[in-house]
Amino acid sequence: MSRTASGIGMTSLRTRTRMIERLREQGIVDEDVLAAMAAVPRHVFVEEALASRAYEDTALPLGFAQTISQPYVVARMVEVLHAGRALGKTLEIGAGCGYQAAVLAQLSAEVYAVERIGPLLAKARINLRAINQINVRLKHADGQLGLPEAAPFDSIIVAAAAARIPPALLQQLAPAGRLIVPVGGASQRLALIERRPEGLVETRFDTVRFVPLLPGVE
Ligand code: SAH
Repeated sequence: MSRTASGIGMTSLRTRTRMIERLREQGIVDEDVLAAMAAVPRHVFVEEALASRAYEDTALPLGFAQTISQPYVVARMVEVLHAGRALGKTLEIGAGCGYQAAVLAQLSAEVYAVERIGPLLAKARINLRAINQINVRLKHADGQLGLPEAAPFDSIIVAAAAARIPPALLQQLAPAGRLIVPVGGASQRLALIERRPEGLVETRFDTVRFVPLLPGVE
């Protein structure tokens, strides 16, 4: 099926609306986040054979043993990060196919997205170009080191689970900046780190399941 307006277009609009209704039922309340999720055509980011399942609330394979995160998890992380303020300059670690970067881009002045797997980054580039998303910059690098050349960041989001929060990410967090990261191994929790005048403050949220944050590039 073609991805033009006559092909997946109408189906996609209906299923996208259903996805937003489902996110509300699941407890996402931030209207800015719901609008950002509604604005990004998720089917563009998944393999063509899976496009009809793009708006289901499941993680889907991206190739290279990686997955595009479940819509609820993307919405939940962005909601915790957003918390009523502009995201400002945002860093995403683990760009994958670029989907979450596109959602972040709706709420950020600019997004820097880092991915360690070269061919995945190439896909992200194609996908973001396909939807004309111009405020996302992609970089092939090990995100555990953050992105020193563009630091500091108002918002940092990590899309892979860290056994320990990489110190470089904490260093690259701007004053009043917020970092959200899944922490753990077999069992993981979302952690929010805020840089406040009195220092770094950590809050723990939902239990989650992410692929591990790995060192180096490939
Ligand atoms: N945000 C993505 C989901 C990506 S899954 C999306 O919307 O599609 C997690 C991604 O993190 C994988 O693509 C994986 O290759 C990447 N990753 C893991 N460790 C990394 C690291 N150290 N630096 C950069 N990317 C990393």
